[in-house]
Amino acid sequence: MKNCWNDKEIDGVAITLDGPDRFDLRQRVYSARLLGSEPDLVLHGGGNVSVKTSLPNVFGEAAPVSFVKASGQDMATIEETGFVALDYEYLVRLANIEFMSDEAMRDELALHLARPHEKLPSIEALMHVFLAPKYIDHTHPASILALTNRKDGTQWVADALGSNVAVIPYVKPGFQLARTVAGAFESDRNSDGMVLMHHGLITWGETAREAYDKTIELVSRAEKHLARTKTKHRIAPAGEASVQQATKHYREIAPVLRGMMIRNARGMGTLGERVILRPLISDEILGFLESATGRELAFESPLTPDNLIRTGVRPLWIETDDVEDMTELGRKFDEAIGTFSREYASYIERNAGSDRSRGASPKTVMFPGVGIACAGCDVREADIARDVTAQTLRVKATIAETDGQYHGLTEDQLYAMEYDPFQQAKLQRQERALPSGTIALVTGAAGAIGSGICDRLLQEGVHVAATDLGGERLDSMVGNLAKEHGSRVLGVPLDVTSENAVVQGFESVVEAWGGLDLLIVNAGLAHVSTLSEMDLAAFRRLERVNVEGVLLLFRHVARLFKRQGTGGDVVVLSTKNVFAPGAGFGAYSATKAACHQLARIASLELAELDVRVNMVSPDAVFSHGDRKSGLWAEVGPDRMQARGLDEAGLEEYYRNRNLLKAKVTAEHVANAVMFFATRQTPTTGATIPVDGGLPDATPR
Ligand code: ZN
Repeated sequence: MKNCWNDKEIDGVAITLDGPDRFDLRQRVYSARLLGSEPDLVLHGGGNVSVKTSLPNVFGEAAPVSFVKASGQDMATIEETGFVALDYEYLVRLANIEFMSDEAMRDELALHLARPHEKLPSIEALMHVFLAPKYIDHTHPASILALTNRKDGTQWVADALGSNVAVIPYVKPGFQLARTVAGAFESDRNSDGMVLMHHGLITWGETAREAYDKTIELVSRAEKHLARTKTKHRIAPAGEASVQQATKHYREIAPVLRGMMIRNARGMGTLGERVILRPLISDEILGFLESATGRELAFESPLTPDNLIRTGVRPLWIETDDVEDMTELGRKFDEAIGTFSREYASYIERNAGSDRSRGASPKTVMFPGVGIACAGCDVREADIARDVTAQTLRVKATIAETDGQYHGLTEDQLYAMEYDPFQQAKLQRQERALPSGTIALVTGAAGAIGSGICDRLLQEGVHVAATDLGGERLDSMVGNLAKEHGSRVLGVPLDVTSENAVVQGFESVVEAWGGLDLLIVNAGLAHVSTLSEMDLAAFRRLERVNVEGVLLLFRHVARLFKRQGTGGDVVVLSTKNVFAPGAGFGAYSATKAACHQLARIASLELAELDVRVNMVSPDAVFSHGDRKSGLWAEVGPDRMQARGLDEAGLEEYYRNRNLLKAKVTAEHVANAVMFFATRQTPTTGATIPVDGGLPDATPR
């Protein structure tokens, strides 16, 4: 493993705190990022590092503190605020207590924060406090786990790392582990580091550099030893063609699978949960799933206790010869989920010893020939499940390829960690109007109303595929949204007049997240002309987008919703012109009326799938932020000229035209979309006007 330390980069780490801790903290943040950027050392929120230093208190004294990474913080991108300052003098005394429960430990940590309003410290915080050296690095390196998670693991660690490394048998993270680790350190202060069986590595130093160098040194030794002992025994990778084939199958299967998982979760009483699926498909994965060894290893326990909440105790395994036969797939799924649920229930019963039974949703679904679908309540969680699964299978394969026999955690050890309060806290989600894991596709997303709807859905935690004609307008919008919402926004170029593009648009969303719950039909064109002057080509251009485009979206979303089998919602952006058309606006009014009528037909035809189709009919939304409405760019100049008004004057004119004298905004339109998306009333085929009150345009 490469040592990436570079003194020149350290000054670039921003630290706002003043005082003697400033230097220490900067070194700490810098080396945490180095460790965190190496997936073979830690993944996502894994691992933990600390520094002992001091913080000036209100008396001007330097109070000793231990800065420890907060629970779940990702080291790769950590800032100083990702660390919790703990009262060192008090907490170090806890090492003299024999036993403390997880709950009591959590309370002690919460009571002895050096600053108020801190995040939850990690379950491993006391381990960092009890260990004497200034800088502590704790990682979960893949190569170390490839040594520890096998029969004769202790011997393998000694062979690979030498005898000057302490080896600690597995102890559940928490108070006891903190004491065990501190005890081992005190009995041999000169060891190079410490390996925790089935868990990871600890190194230390008086400088951040010293601790980091030791981590890299020990991991490199482990990697070299594994390379040396590699035998011919290989889990054969599949060929290139099969990855393509598998991805194609995955796109067909994912919505079916997602639907079954959602319905299964509803059956368990967690009504309304939705799920995001991320694919894991590669040569290695396909080879692994198709080999007998692979299957056996897939069912072995997770590598480390904190991987458990990400991947679950075991995967859901589905095998079918004909992945295109959806009925057969459904039967296989029911069978597999039945076995999965029964096994999970008896695991709970064996370990909880009482009636503390609760259902479990699989976190990974393995399909030989197709790949692995990794589930989470949102894309972040699903990505963690995916990355942890990929690494787990790689390490298991390494063990097999060095002639080892996998030896993981026992069932009671897994159970103790799965229900640990610190671990459960990592899975807590915010209550929102729509379930996390909701997936929406918005057409015409780069316009004023489209971008307003995207903004709102993203704020509600929805995963949004923002679609529009490809180009700068869409790219800049998605780029901006991604800065705030990360991988919950996906830009998809989609010309609604092309059937191919519509099919591919839905496929992109399915491949990215597993399915769809909400479609916002918003893309539309306007054109100003009297009938006598009408250019037929212009009329047809509108007809293609406003009518055929809508038809194509309905045709293919109906197929997708049917495969998924969990219902769905479609909200169509209609217009007040459907009810009150305007002279000189025939192409728009007529094509939007056809669009509106298609939506009403869809509400009749799709109700049996529990798909609701409703309309929102706004009037005079000029812009959203700096996004101008395409419709008003077309219509505005003409109207301004006709009425002798400037842009502000025209807005004022439309405001005064409605009963409530309201300026209608994209946010108002988004509110109406949310009303339908959250299913607050049993309504389909209906229209909400968002126009400030226009009696002529009131739907009737
Ligand atoms: Zn750990």
